[in-house]
Amino acid sequence: MDYGVQKRYVDVHIHLYDPLYESTIEAVLRDAETAGVSAIVICAENYQTSLDTLQIASKYSPRTYAAIGIHPSRVSSLDEQELDKTLSLIEQNLSGIVAIGEVGLDRRLNEGEVNKNQFPVFNEMLRAAESHDLPIIVHSRGSATEVLKVLSSYNIPKVLLHWYSGPQDSLHEIIERGYYVSVGPSILYARYLQDLVATMPLNHILTETDGPVPYKGPFKGRLTSPSFIPDVLDTIVRIKQRNAEEVLSQVFENFQEFFL
Ligand SMILES: [Zn+2]
Repeated sequence: MDYGVQKRYVDVHIHLYDPLYESTIEAVLRDAETAGVSAIVICAENYQTSLDTLQIASKYSPRTYAAIGIHPSRVSSLDEQELDKTLSLIEQNLSGIVAIGEVGLDRRLNEGEVNKNQFPVFNEMLRAAESHDLPIIVHSRGSATEVLKVLSSYNIPKVLLHWYSGPQDSLHEIIERGYYVSVGPSILYARYLQDLVATMPLNHILTETDGPVPYKGPFKGRLTSPSFIPDVLDTIVRIKQRNAEEVLSQVFENFQEFFL
């Protein structure tokens, strides 16, 4: 689609420290720039990747931003000091990070149950977000109900439910609470995401890739990159049946409102 305004796409969720980007990061960031992606938020998963995230985000600043924290999939492999070390790292880098993330709960990691050990780590991350007044980027795969319940005991106004995958009937609560959702390349072919975007108000939608997660459809066989974002945005434009420039500007405003 053609945009009269300056292209300012955003990818608010990517794991650029992943080994798949080790030799490709310069090319990936160059492609992102060519595509008009002007802001990229790197999300960590544990202590080491939080360090990596801080390092990459500062190296490629001001286009890249850091979110650090502990992902539910890393809870089972945390070493003894890791939670405390990560919390200290957050405290030491309050001006160098834009959010705490990626944190949350995941039901599918543990035979259909949210592993009990995920709760204390998630709670610590939420306490840190609340006390430092930071936004949070939340992973809620198969666990949206539990995530919403846990979140209700905190005063954290800026919550981004990344790749929210349902249930659809929790959406009214998400909207009521003023939370944001970020949608990625699978919106081109995943009906539930198209329905989500149709329901969510545009001023609470953000775009992401969650790279290096691979995608199907037109992205099949390609290394996931922020340069996929224009296709994601075009799909939102089609679903919302709104003016393309208006959607592009609104999503960029959402990015500024949420993170900056
Ligand atoms: Zn992720």
